[in-house]
Order: sequence, then C-alpha cells, then structure tokens
Amino acid sequence: MKSIPDSEQKKCVVIGGGLAGLATAAGLAYRGYSVILIEKNKDLGGRARVFKQKGFTFDMGPSWYMMPEVIESFFASVGKKSSDYYSLRELSTKYRVFSDSHKPIDIVSNIQKNLRLFETLEPGSRAKLVSLITKTNVAYTLSIELLARKYDSFLSLLTPKTMLAGLRLLSQFNPFQSYERFITTQLSHPLIQKILQFHTVFLGGSPKRTPALYSILIASDFKGKIWYPEGGIGQLPKALEALCKEFGVTIKTEEAVTSVHIDDETKRVTSVDTTQGTYDADIFVTTADYAYFDIHLLPNEYKEYSKDYWENREYAISSVLVYLGLSKKIPELQHHNFYFQDDWNDHFSTIQNSTEFPKKPCYYVCAPSVTDHTVAPKNAENLFILVPVSVQTKQHGVDEYVEHVLDHVEATTGAEIQKHIVYKKIFAQKDFAHEFNAYKGNALGLSHSLLQSVFMRPRMKAKQLSNLYFAGQFTQPGIGVPMVLLSAQYVIDEIQKDSA
Ligand SMILES: Cc1cc2nc3c(=O)[nH]c(=O)nc-3n(C[C@H](O)[C@H](O)[C@H](O)COP(=O)(O)OP(=O)(O)OC[C@H]3O[C@@H](n4cnc5c(N)ncnc54)[C@H](O)[C@@H]3O)c2cc1C
Repeated sequence: MKSIPDSEQKKCVVIGGGLAGLATAAGLAYRGYSVILIEKNKDLGGRARVFKQKGFTFDMGPSWYMMPEVIESFFASVGKKSSDYYSLRELSTKYRVFSDSHKPIDIVSNIQKNLRLFETLEPGSRAKLVSLITKTNVAYTLSIELLARKYDSFLSLLTPKTMLAGLRLLSQFNPFQSYERFITTQLSHPLIQKILQFHTVFLGGSPKRTPALYSILIASDFKGKIWYPEGGIGQLPKALEALCKEFGVTIKTEEAVTSVHIDDETKRVTSVDTTQGTYDADIFVTTADYAYFDIHLLPNEYKEYSKDYWENREYAISSVLVYLGLSKKIPELQHHNFYFQDDWNDHFSTIQNSTEFPKKPCYYVCAPSVTDHTVAPKNAENLFILVPVSVQTKQHGVDEYVEHVLDHVEATTGAEIQKHIVYKKIFAQKDFAHEFNAYKGNALGLSHSLLQSVFMRPRMKAKQLSNLYFAGQFTQPGIGVPMVLLSAQYVIDEIQKDSA
C-alpha cells in the first residue's frame, strides 16, 4: 500500500457500494487516495449482496464464480490473494440440466465423461465438441489478454498486440455471426445445442442477439472448473469491504447521492449532495446505474447521453427472483440446475420483447446448501430461482406467476417443494428499481449485443467533466462479477494516468 503525505493525498468520492464501487474504492485507497464510498442501501454488495432469514443465508444475485483468474488478478492488484479472505471449493457436478424430452443430465468436472454423454446423444459429437472447446479455449485465453485494458475507440484496438490477437480471434469467429448460428451449424442435437448456448443468459441476452465471440464462456465451462466460495458468493463483497476498511476507506451506508455540483468554469465536479450531507473531492467515480445517474443526477448541460439514447438501448434481461427456505433436503437437485424448454425460441422472444411473463419459461435453480451446510439450517435446503423476463414486463400478477413456476419446478424435478417452504421472498423489476435505482428495473444493465460491446458501451470518462468517471456493469467490459472488477481496474488506471 502506498503511503502518501496527507497534504498530497487526492480526495476521491466513489458512489455505489456494489462490487464495482467496493473494488474501485479499495484499489484507489491502496494507491494512496483518500476515499469515501457512498452507498444508498444499508448493506454493501449491491446486486451481489447477502441477506439472512430464519437461519438461511441467501446470495441475492450472483451464484456462479466465473473467470476466477480475473477475480484473482483484482486481488493481486492490491497485493492480496482471494485465499486471504475465503476458500474456493470445486464442484464435482458442475450443473444438472432438466428438459421435457430427456431425463436429467449432469455436466461434471470430468470432461471425458461429458464427451461420452454427448456422444450417446449425438454420435460424432465428441470430436466436434473437442474442436469447439479447443477453439473457444484459444479465444478465451486471447480475450483474457485483451481484457487487460479498456478500448476508447476503434482506433484504440489497432495496437500490434490487439491486432494480432484480433486477427487470431477473427480466424476462429465471424464477428457478425450470432452465438446461436455458431453452435447450431456445428452440433445438431437440440439439448446439446442448448447446453452450449445457455451462457448467453449470463450476458443478459439471447443466443440470437449475442455475437458468437462470447462463446468463449464454453471454454471456461467445459475446460475450466466450477468454483464455489465456502460460505457463498457473498464472501467476495465481504472481502472487498474488508479490503476497503484495511486501506482506510470511509464507508457511508444508507446515504444516497441526490445531486451533483459542477464548477462551470473549470468543468469539474466540485461536490455531491447526499441524503445526509455534502462531500467535496478532487475525483468522483460513480458505479450507480449509469442511466439513472445520467438522467436523474447530472445537470442538463452535462449529461453524457440523451434521454432517447437511454430509451433506445438494448437492455439485458431482468429477472423474477425467488428465495426459498425449505424445511427438508431436495435430493433431486444439484448445486446448479437449469430447466430448458424443448422449444425455447418462444421463451427468448418473450424475454426480449414482450410485456408478459414467459408462459413457458426456461429457468435456473441454485441450491447452494447442497454443497455448503452453512447457508441453511440442518436438513434444510436454500433455493434461489431465477426466471429471466424482459425489462418491459408488466409487474402485476408476479405472485401468481411465481406459483406457476413453482408448480413447474415440482413437476420437472419430481420434488415436493411448496409444502415445505418456511421462508419465501420474491424480488422482481420494481424491486431492482427501488433498491438499486435500476433504470426500467433492469437486473444486468445493457446487453452485450454487437453494437453494445467493447468501445461501443457507455464511456468510462465523462465527456465534459475532467474529474468524473464511470465504472460498473453498464460500462466496459460489461456484465458479471469478473467484468465489473475489470471495470474498476480500468477506472483506477485512468485516474492514475490523469493524475500523473
Ligand atoms: C440475479 C442476478 C444474478 C447474477 N448472477 C451472476 C453470476 O452468477 N455470476 C456473475 O459473474 N455475475 C452475475 N450477475 C451479475 C453481477 O452480479 C453484476 O454484474 C454486478 O454485481 C454489478 O455490480 P455493479 O457494482 O456494477 O452494480 P450494483 O451491484 O448495482 O452496484 C451499484 C450500487 O450503487 C448503489 N446506488 C444506486 N444509486 C445510488 C445513489 N444515488 N447513491 C448511492 N448509491 C447508489 C446501488 O444501491 C448499488 O449498491 C448477476 C446479477 C443478478 C442481478
């Protein structure tokens, strides 16, 4: 940790105590800045926060610990290791897939077993899968290298290193091809096709709208391991909070930023008002929902984008989330479980465009208590059900809709669930809007369509205000735990460059 005399220390305000805000605050404080973090809610962690009820510990959002090497690189950037704060356990069964026309199948840590399983579903698929995994693994490794920095324009992509990596990627992927086409032209069994495409939901989109390049996640799924932090994904925000405290960040919770003050002459943000007071600083970083901050908090003449811009973006899916505490174990479930409709086109077009809940949804059920006895009482199960819905979905009828989903989960898994519920909480769009100031109730910010990728995502440095920066899932590189940690690193690098 850098030690800088008080008189030379730059003051920095970080808005939002989700993963991006916590990581930015910790990273800046580690580099010698004097940092105040302001979060509107009582608990830190944002969409990744944790809540406890009746002996159950629920991770509110993320449940997949993806791209562990990226998470580790964040810890390394502040002189730490994740193992200083929590330990990771490998899941031997990666996930279970339920569908209408097949008995449940398990994707396991032993890749040869998975290949044998796929071969029984589609003779000849083994060789095709090996080639697909090799191809996406090369792309995954190249992408990790390319993700080391942000890109401000097309020109910024034209360095010798990125061009070389880009050419290697282009030799494997047509940049205009969809994820769906990339998979369905190589493998023909409908269930295999689905297993290889569900990753797009992590990116908040549909396989039709997500570029083939994002199939790099197939490599991390099949070649990599699936990890789980003992105690839950909530260990990560907890670790980041501990880092903030260790590096001397002042943390203000239950305090929302309500306005931004600007000096018109110097074109600098001078202070922010909150529900509790006013904070001045040299540097401001916001990780609150970008659209909300731009529309509601920046004065008219300093807005980054127009209202039409925000109105016309392609938003990632929102979700209906159900947290259940059950009074018995559900052996029919693994830690991670998916249900895929035989015909999922209807599901994807509903979650893309419709104001209705999907009648026949595909959904995800996480049962962390299968692996971790600390997140539920003895002989009880902790369930988290995620049903993707469109950000445009009308909210009325959500309780009845959840009952319909629970009936479906019971019919699909053969497990009795509803009779054994001792705790139930539903969290949907209006809650995202209320809890996180999420524009339109989005769960995951902007989707990763081709025109909303890399430098085409909202900018990280304000166009007029020289001391205002943006990080988090709306910006580069995008959605997900590892991505928002990278966005924090990008912003820290930018601030250091500008301060030099
Ligand atoms: C249901 C769900 C499941 C997910 N699953 C996964 C997964 O399995 N794996 C994965 O890698 N990713 C997953 N993600 C994505 C990942 O959780 C997010 O991309 C990431 O947590 C976003 O972090 P953030 O800091 O950008 O935003 P946020 O977490 O939203 O943080 C922004 C913070 O700003 C605060 N704020 C807003 N307005 C103000 C204001 N005016 N003043 C002060 N504070 C304010 C908010 O309260 C919030 O705490 C999931 C997300 C969701 C919602």
